[in-house]
Amino acid sequence: MKKIFAIIIILISIFFILLFFTSKKKVVNNKNTNIQENKLDYYNYRNEKRYQNFSKLFPNLSKEEIITRVNIGLDQKPYTNTKESPYLNKDYILVNKYTYLPETYVPNNLEDLDISYARSGMKLVKNAKNMLEKMITEAKNDGYIIRIISSYRSYSYQNKLYNEYVQTDGSENADTYSARPGFSEHQTGLCVDVDDGKTLYTSFEQSPSFIWMQKNSYKYGFILRYPKGKEDITMYTYEAWHYRYVGKKIAEYIHEHNITLDEYYVKFIAKN
Ligand SMILES: [Zn+2]
Repeated sequence: MKKIFAIIIILISIFFILLFFTSKKKVVNNKNTNIQENKLDYYNYRNEKRYQNFSKLFPNLSKEEIITRVNIGLDQKPYTNTKESPYLNKDYILVNKYTYLPETYVPNNLEDLDISYARSGMKLVKNAKNMLEKMITEAKNDGYIIRIISSYRSYSYQNKLYNEYVQTDGSENADTYSARPGFSEHQTGLCVDVDDGKTLYTSFEQSPSFIWMQKNSYKYGFILRYPKGKEDITMYTYEAWHYRYVGKKIAEYIHEHNITLDEYYVKFIAKN
């Protein structure tokens, strides 16, 4: 009788131990989905006043949109209230008109691009380069040409470029299509401007290669960085030719949810 009693106690204990571990597992899973689903995780109490002011200006935006946009910095003018980009040398590094790179920043592992698809001397960070080559090869196998017309740009090169634009167009106009030095994503060594090898890059949107990129680039970790209809978030005019490497996982999420890197960053990367 004692033995049976002991066995029952042991069985009950095992049952509760198993219950404990499975419920713990569930908590961990919930936490993972929360990072993706709970859009208020990134609420920053220090921005409360700014959220309030911004929601008065844009009463049609949801609470999530208000928090996202203010956290990006969109309640301020471009190039004001700027901060240095953390996470240097990460695939998810953010550079926009509120977040800049130090003048001295040169990414690690820059490698030359092959002259079969780029001009000589063009460079990209190793991971991005490897995936870019896979993408270009796959596109070619499908019958589409992707050619690189711009890749890594140093701070000093961007400085020269921007100042030339200012000379010819004035700073207000130059700011609509060119980044100021330190604020160019090209300094990350993770993005490229492309064309189809036939027409000017500004007409890339009309080419079959663009449609291929729309369908496939995220599979290789590349996103269209300045999409149509998101100009009020990226603060850039639509650029059908500018692709940014963010890694496969992030690119998939951004593609699936039709958001920008700026939004992804404040939701899932930035620490409040
Ligand atoms: Zn570009």
